[in-house]
Amino acid sequence: MIERPVFITDFSLDKTEELMSSFGEPAYRAKALLAWVYQKRAANFNDMTDFPRALRDKLIQTIKVASVEEIEVQKAKDGTVKALLGLWEGRTVETALLPSSTGQYTVCVSSQVGCATGCPFCATGQQGFERNLAVSEICDQVLYFARLLGDKGTISNIVFMGMGEPFANYLDVMSAVEHLNAPWGFGLGARNITISTAGHIPGIEKLSKEKLQLGLAVSLHAANNDLRNKLVPLNRKYPLDKLIPACAAYIEATGRRMTFEYCLFEGINDSLVQARELAHLLRGMNCHVNLIAANETLGCDYKPPKPEAVLAFEEELKRLRITVTLRRSFGRDIKGGCGQLKSRIGS
Ligand code: SF4
Repeated sequence: MIERPVFITDFSLDKTEELMSSFGEPAYRAKALLAWVYQKRAANFNDMTDFPRALRDKLIQTIKVASVEEIEVQKAKDGTVKALLGLWEGRTVETALLPSSTGQYTVCVSSQVGCATGCPFCATGQQGFERNLAVSEICDQVLYFARLLGDKGTISNIVFMGMGEPFANYLDVMSAVEHLNAPWGFGLGARNITISTAGHIPGIEKLSKEKLQLGLAVSLHAANNDLRNKLVPLNRKYPLDKLIPACAAYIEATGRRMTFEYCLFEGINDSLVQARELAHLLRGMNCHVNLIAANETLGCDYKPPKPEAVLAFEEELKRLRITVTLRRSFGRDIKGGCGQLKSRIGS
């Protein structure tokens, strides 16, 4: 059996200081090493030209820089880039780079290989769960795109909306968030990092006690238990009558507005009656609804509604005083939905 290598992005500042001290190096070299990785995006230790040759050799023998390697990249007409990345044991994971109109980029990261939630409209959900991603494998998705962009663009946001349920991998996700937020790490503001959950109540409760001001999004997709049990099977464990009060408690405890994602599927959850049901469910909450028309998934019956139906749904929510934004769906020409590239390529 192959042993899992050790990657530098698994290490916190403390652990990096321990590593440097084990080499007989001063502690300040730990910050210099992490700056090479997170700020200067060095792809290997030989790029760290201000380190003595002997130190670079010790690092090369002990640890690796990147825990992911590019297998395939797809670029969409709208500027979305989707990558299938290989992990140390041969498994693969998807990650995506989403452009904004301001020239900045959002990275959509995965937190697991596959997903146990099994949403029927999602290609990842059809692949089943394989394993949690490690801290390094989450951070390195962001660094992969940072290296790809070079000086051609800035990563301004990170969303945990790729493969997997982030709260089912809580510890690694939160450690990765720390590395991505810390001044010694990637240095991105916590408010620019959003965790998106299918409605994992224990995770929402834990997040409400974290000090970092992270964003929280809940993928709702239906406003009654019968339909949500089918669209988001995690609802059978954490039904709406428990989930919505948990969200309200999160808003109360943190003082932060949260987001509900509602993906529209033609003939399934896109009627005006369902818009009213959604407005009723969220009435009085300090929240925002992101509406998005479905992405066409391989071999799947969940289709996007006609544009007029999407607009009518949005208008009905606005009429009922729900704050709503209609989001565009990214990378339509490359089948930008979560898990579609992995489904096509395999492993
Ligand atoms: S939509 Fe999200 S929670 Fe549902 S199966 Fe896909 S990755 Fe998992």
